[in-house]
Order: sequence, then structure tokens, then C-alpha cells
Amino acid sequence: MVAASSRLAGVRAAVLHGPRDLRVEHAVRPDLEPGEVRLRVTRAGLCGTDYSIWSGDRPVRYPRIMGHELLGVVDAVGAEVTRVRPGDRVALEPNYSCGRCPLCREGNRNLCLGRVAIGIDADGGFAEMVKAPERCCWPVPPGVADDDLLLTEPLAVVTRAVGRVTPHSGETAAVVGGGTLGLLALQVLRARGARVLVVSRSTRRFALARELGAERTHALTDGPLAHVASEFSGREGVDLVVETAGTADAVSDALALVRPGGRVVLTGLPHEPTPVVFFGVVRREITLLGSMIYQDEFAEAMRLVAEGAVRARPLITHRFPLEAIGAAFAAHRDPASIKVALEI
Ligand SMILES: [Zn+2]
Ligand SMILES: [Zn+2]
Repeated sequence: MVAASSRLAGVRAAVLHGPRDLRVEHAVRPDLEPGEVRLRVTRAGLCGTDYSIWSGDRPVRYPRIMGHELLGVVDAVGAEVTRVRPGDRVALEPNYSCGRCPLCREGNRNLCLGRVAIGIDADGGFAEMVKAPERCCWPVPPGVADDDLLLTEPLAVVTRAVGRVTPHSGETAAVVGGGTLGLLALQVLRARGARVLVVSRSTRRFALARELGAERTHALTDGPLAHVASEFSGREGVDLVVETAGTADAVSDALALVRPGGRVVLTGLPHEPTPVVFFGVVRREITLLGSMIYQDEFAEAMRLVAEGAVRARPLITHRFPLEAIGAAFAAHRDPASIKVALEI
């Protein structure tokens, strides 16, 4: 009886059974506890985190449904849910913290050791349905298209990173990396009035970067960074750097671009050890900051999109139905791709 009702209530989902073992199959429709919301997923973005989970580089508990960059429509709400109703369009904030520890109580909920990430620690949205606590569901502004909102989650990451180095209007900034995070960081910096230089390994994204507001672009192989940064800024280097590349060299690249007394924020999460000569950090009084996901930046990210200050649509290069998720992962590795989306 239980099996029969589960089957009746089944939904299609891409279930990861182990590294590189991803199968689209029937899964149990999530039941709701008090305070939870079930979403019918409409769009899901695929990112490097999903890829590292898929490949096994980032182990999770199997079976697991990935997917943390999500848009959906509220399908049902549990008891005590008051902020959203069935039929509401929402963007999902996939991280939620314990709310009780000292870090949470002082507002550092992104640093909570008990933080849960939907799509990593709990089942996510590479499926027809996903469930989440009510506080993770952000009703989207009316009239804003799904394509524009799909990148709200990575945009919130970048919005926090940029906020950490408090750009002022007229300051010069460099973005290291020309991927999704870099192209979003560029736009957030522009919205804050900064002039932006984009530095990347490849020239492939430079036309798009310029279209999105980059004043100058520079390929890493095209000469010393310090020279380009001083030429662009008209002084000893740029005022601030947002690192999004996540490579071992990216921190050194950021330090080569910034002026004495400047600020650098790292958000690309280089997992491997990074060779950095700290002498220059001391001698040049560089402020070097980390930035981890977001605290309260989700609403700001949505506002930036609704106001047209950030354009996400040009970053979506590939679209696949859920059934073709294997092709979506292959497309993610294609150097020509920026953001791969599942339309569910
Ligand atoms: Zn992501
Ligand atoms: Zn906590």
C-alpha cells in the first residue's frame, strides 16, 4: 500500500547513485513537514558545484538529487506556512542555517557549521518537485521572466563578494575570471558605479563582457597584470579586485592587479593549496577578504535583476529537458558554455 501510493505520488528526478552514476527515474514526491514548501521546479541552473558532486570530487550521501539554483511555482505548503501560497512563483535560496548557534545569532548564518545546502546535503531541484523551508522561498517580482531570475543564487554570491570590498562610485575594479560569477560580478560592480577591467585566461567571453559593461578586457597571456592594471587605473593598480576564477594562480593574479592599500575579495573557492607571496600583502597593506555564499543578499540580487541592472539572460548558453541531464553535464564542460539550464 505504501509502495503503491509512493508510486502514484512519484515525480521524475535525476538521482545520483554514486560518482558519474546519474539516472533519471521516478522518485517519491516530497511530503511536507510544518513550515515546509513544495515547489514544482520550472528552471534549474547547473554549476561547477554540481559538476564536482557528479564527478565524485565532492562526495555527498547517495542517493542524492542535486540542483541548488532553482526557480519554481509553489505546489503545496505545510502547516504554519504564511509567506507563500500555492501558485506563487519563487526563487529558492538553497542554504539554510540552524538559527541557534552563536554564528547564526550574530548574523553570520552563512558561516553556520550546521548549515544545510539543498541539492548537496538535502535533495535538490534536478527534479519535478523539491521541498524547502518556507524561509528559503523568495516570491519573485511580477513581470520578471524566469530566464532573468535563473541566476539569482550565483548573483547573490557575487553581490555579497562585491559588498565585502565596498566599491565607491568612480573607483576602478578588476574581475578575475570570465565565467558566470565573473560576468555577474562585473555587472554588480557597474551598478555600484565602478569602472571594470575583466581579466581571464581566454578571450572567449570578452565581447560579452564588454557588452555587459566592462571598460577593458585582458587575457592573462597578454602581458604583465600590474602593467595593465596601472594603465587602466591611471595609478599604481586598481582599487579593488573580485576574484571569481577559483584557480591556484587566481590569488596571485588578484594581488598583481591591486594597488597598495587596495582591497581583494576571494570567492572562487580554490580548493588546492595556493602559492601566494604574502610579503607584498604586508608591505602594500592589502586588505584580503574571503566571501562565503550570502547572508541577506538574496533580496538585493533579485532587485538588481528586476531593475535591469544585472542581465542574466545572455549568460544562459544551453538549455536541456530533465531527461537530457547527461547532455547538460557534458555541455557544462564545453568551454563555449557559460550557464547551462534545465527546463523542467
Ligand atoms: Zn551553484
Ligand atoms: Zn547556526
